[in-house]
Amino acid sequence: MMLKNAPGSSTSIVSQLDKQIIAQVNLLIPNNPLVSFTDLNVVAGGNAVWPLLQKDAKAALQRAINERDQTLVVNSAYRTIAQQFFLFINKDRLGIPKVAPVGKSNHQSGLALDIEDHDGWKPYLKKYGWQWFGPSDSVHFSFGGEGNPNAQSYKIAAIKAFQKLWNLNNPDRILTVDGDVGPMTLARLGESPIEGFSKGDKSSVNPLRRVLRLTDPLMQGEDVRELQQALIKMNFNLNADGFFGTTTDAAIKKFQQDKDLIADGVVGLVTLKRMGLL
Ligand SMILES: [Zn+2]
Repeated sequence: MMLKNAPGSSTSIVSQLDKQIIAQVNLLIPNNPLVSFTDLNVVAGGNAVWPLLQKDAKAALQRAINERDQTLVVNSAYRTIAQQFFLFINKDRLGIPKVAPVGKSNHQSGLALDIEDHDGWKPYLKKYGWQWFGPSDSVHFSFGGEGNPNAQSYKIAAIKAFQKLWNLNNPDRILTVDGDVGPMTLARLGESPIEGFSKGDKSSVNPLRRVLRLTDPLMQGEDVRELQQALIKMNFNLNADGFFGTTTDAAIKKFQQDKDLIADGVVGLVTLKRMGLL
């Protein structure tokens, strides 16, 4: 399916295409690639968060988290131009009017985070160089502020990465690799397959883990399936269908009880670690 026709409300729908773009991005910035921050005390608020930052932004985040000594819930970090395109063309439908145009968001620079508990984290992040955007985008923080001089080269790489990926797969319809979102690049982006192109590395990065639990509607995804497969290996009787339903909830509570954890059915970092999934 083409990106311009992608349905739903979650940018996770473009995750396979994202992985190919991200692999290309890091080839373009070999001296200071985007680094994963999954080793910090962080979880995702949704299922489409790419846990990537520039190195110094990650180091500052680490200090803030260490100081507060709490789990940080991140709703958005690195965002590919495919995700940005999805959000931009669906902004009215999704009720999110403040979406930057493709290639213009600081989320394409590896210097931005959207934080769920923004008020609580504000003083800690600010102390280490993460600036709050303000009430008009209250979840948004950027390292070194919106004018950080290290932003631009990454935004250009975000676009060039797509242009190179497109050219690799469409040698008869080559885009100029100029790092600029012109009408041609925008049109080709919209025509790109959300399942990913036939050529391109998809192995480089996994989304940040979200907290899994029983919700209405049920949480669904590959992360749920992986959890279920781990439970099945431990002889729990359930199907790995990718939906976190009552059977999965009961199995998790039993597991937590057996391990002397709080048996609340909430699969956070502690439970994941005890299951050997971190
Ligand atoms: Zn943001």
